Amino acid sequence: MSGVPQPRAQKTFYLETFGCQMNVHDSEKVVGTLLEEGYQQVDSIEKADLILYNTCSIRDKAEQKVFHRLADYKKLQAEGKKFGVLGCVAQQEGEKIFERAPHVSLVCGSASYTKLPEMLVQLDGKSRAADSGAADSGFLASLAMTNAGEGLGNEELTSLGSADETVRRSTDNLVRITGLDDRQTDKCFETEFTARTNPHRGYITIIEGCDKFCAYCVVPFTRGKERSRTSHSVLAEARQMADLGYSEIQLLGQNVNSYRDPSGNKSFAELLVAVGEVAGIRRVRFTTSHPRDFGRDIVEAIDARPALCNHVHLPVQSGSTRLLDAMQRLYTREQYLERIAWMKAARREISITTDVIVGFPGETEADFSQTLSLLDEVGYDGVFSFKYSARPNTPALKLDDAIPEEEKSRRLEVLMARQREIQVARYKRYVGIGCEVMVEGYNDSRAQWIGRTSQNKTLNFTVSAGPVPVVGSYVSVLVTRSFPNSLVGEMVGLVG
Ligand code: SAM
Ligand code: SF4
Repeated sequence: MSGVPQPRAQKTFYLETFGCQMNVHDSEKVVGTLLEEGYQQVDSIEKADLILYNTCSIRDKAEQKVFHRLADYKKLQAEGKKFGVLGCVAQQEGEKIFERAPHVSLVCGSASYTKLPEMLVQLDGKSRAADSGAADSGFLASLAMTNAGEGLGNEELTSLGSADETVRRSTDNLVRITGLDDRQTDKCFETEFTARTNPHRGYITIIEGCDKFCAYCVVPFTRGKERSRTSHSVLAEARQMADLGYSEIQLLGQNVNSYRDPSGNKSFAELLVAVGEVAGIRRVRFTTSHPRDFGRDIVEAIDARPALCNHVHLPVQSGSTRLLDAMQRLYTREQYLERIAWMKAARREISITTDVIVGFPGETEADFSQTLSLLDEVGYDGVFSFKYSARPNTPALKLDDAIPEEEKSRRLEVLMARQREIQVARYKRYVGIGCEVMVEGYNDSRAQWIGRTSQNKTLNFTVSAGPVPVVGSYVSVLVTRSFPNSLVGEMVGLVG
């Protein structure tokens, strides 16, 4: 059959995601993009031609995990599998990834996702040429040879014309593609091909990047400058999701409330209200809010519109103004507490959660006790607490007075124990109260339905009589027991 083109088997990919909700949602967009390019998603590395890791570099541990994963599966390269690193580690480490993991073919930072379809075509085209042992002469002819390797061994670096995108062809026929825009990018990763994994609640990114430059944080370097989508495009996506049957939308951004509508039509609070007014949308969440940009209008919107969930995640990082200043957080303890007071004055009880870092350089015992006293004063329903992790490029690297690792661990334990006591008391208050939950699933081993309240609390429940709930529907549940992180109850009825 020589000369007759043979149909190519469908290319397959496996994608593992590390890190935050932004990464989870980026992965949904990456999956949609790959499906559109003709790939098929598979659920194991063994079945995949292309293995992708969407990475997180917020703490050192998260970054190391990715390199361990790459090392674990390195031998599969001999079977012709290709590896790609996406997201924050890709952005941060760039081409150094090829040095640490030479079997990687594709490196695409989060600020370059808009170029992903183009890069996949190149990867596929180049791989085919490499597989057949023949260079894609038309393609190569259009490339300008610029360098022979920067210590990367047997390869040539060729530029694709754009300053930040290159294809490397190694002499062992490994194709290497990078797409690493820097902070100058003004594009958002908008795509009509998002492959959302949950059919009832979905994410919409409304703002990407960060301009705040907290002293400890790598995000401004990995996710580029702050750039918002127009309210028009956000609302169009919300309507589209509602038409598909979604009833809950979570608006995302590293600092979601720093949103600035490029068309100048809506403030963040007005956008929240408008999304809540989309027919079919019953719940709107948003995360993460930065205290400096947290206005009273957000609280007023939550108070006025039941569709806006009464939960705010407002990371404080430390209870000490001295340390907040060293962290370059742009607010004091008092200013933070003022925002908490606005929320506590609301007519609907707003559940508040936060992030805390312990062991930032120079954190004294007195600073740490101020963080503990802040926990008591606010009464959080949840705290994500982290040991400070030194990150590349960040200003905090230059600070003296590093806190020893054991002391960081001790402070973390003390903080978690204190917060646990607070949560035991806070969750107990719900016993005897009726809550509306969205049904998220069924836990066979516990014989309980899983629900989530507007306040973002997990409320597991049983059904002793009446109709069986459906996943994605809303039901009313009477809380009968409480734990530090969840509630238990009995369904009392469906909610129309
Ligand atoms: N933009 C949000 C804000 O400003 O509050 C936070 C987003 S950040 C991706 C999520 C959390 O990771 C932060 O709130 C902080 O507690 C934690 N984090 C960031 N950098 C860290 C570091 N170097 N070490 C430990 N925790 C860190
Ligand atoms: Fe990181 Fe600070 Fe930006 Fe949040 S505001 S993403 S902590 S730099």
